[in-house]
Amino acid sequence: MSLEELARRVRRCRKCRLWKTRERAVPGEGDGNARIFLVGEAPGREEDRQGRPFVGAAGKILTESLKMAGLKRESVFITSVLRCRPPGNRNPRKDEIEKCRPHLESYIEAVDPCAVVALGSFAHRVLAGKSTKVSEARLETREYEGRPLISTYHPAAVLYNRRLLKHLTSDLKRAKEFAESEDTRIISRPTRKGKRDISVKTAGGVIHRRGRILLIRKKSEKLWCLPKGHVEKGESPERAAMREMEEETGLRSIRIEQELCDAEYSYYWPQDDVNYRKKVTYFLARAPRGKPEPEFRFDEYRWCTESEATNLLFHQNDVNVARKAFKAIRK
Ligand code: SF4
Repeated sequence: MSLEELARRVRRCRKCRLWKTRERAVPGEGDGNARIFLVGEAPGREEDRQGRPFVGAAGKILTESLKMAGLKRESVFITSVLRCRPPGNRNPRKDEIEKCRPHLESYIEAVDPCAVVALGSFAHRVLAGKSTKVSEARLETREYEGRPLISTYHPAAVLYNRRLLKHLTSDLKRAKEFAESEDTRIISRPTRKGKRDISVKTAGGVIHRRGRILLIRKKSEKLWCLPKGHVEKGESPERAAMREMEEETGLRSIRIEQELCDAEYSYYWPQDDVNYRKKVTYFLARAPRGKPEPEFRFDEYRWCTESEATNLLFHQNDVNVARKAFKAIRK
């Protein structure tokens, strides 16, 4: 559906009580091909008056922060959790959020961005499906419908505390890096018919110690993952997994215990205009001693329980592998 049609639907919408008190509904606004999609909370007084998102004082902060992050306001798409102003700027109610959600989803589908940014705790809760303080949520990258979800402060919070501007700006910069990154699967898309298929073999491992498994975090994307990499020519998957685990975690006491499972996935890679079909062979390994020293592409490591690992891991494939690993460890 075109953005014009979506906007017409929003203007006609009477699905929740807020249509009665609004002056104008506020459809999304911005580049219809934007790589970055921003989601705020709800229109305020000025937005309600003008029928446009982020045009009040908070909007000025957002425009300033986007500029500092190297982004033009016209190059992103901006909308919010609700498209009509709650009276007196009260918090959005649960039923209003649910009734307005299809509008938000339709906009995301129509724009098809590379990265989604949640501005403030309401947007984070709606998109990530959980309540977390923004100060904590902004330190991790979550996933929303296969896209990276970056949570940050609402520009209105910056009005009250100017020191948050630097955080808002650095998070918008991170979204920009995602959108422009060429070495992340995040900008991949579902496989496309008629495109060349390339098969790639990779191998990785789940390293455990005292009932916890080791996750590493990619520096550029702030994504938690398991160590893995390509199987080189003449190399066995087991040897490749061992090499990748050692290189990426810096641990030297790793011993492979058993083959765990194969994970297969496919995606279309716009830069090469091909479909990649990947098969990753995972091994369960133990590292009884030594402090991890992740290689330069990673900025953090964490020994996790099962619930911590399944909560932190970005890709569903990795979550499934982690679950199998814990099952094997318990045995
Ligand atoms: S807030 Fe959303 S669901 Fe409610 S009337 Fe406005 S557009 Fe419709």
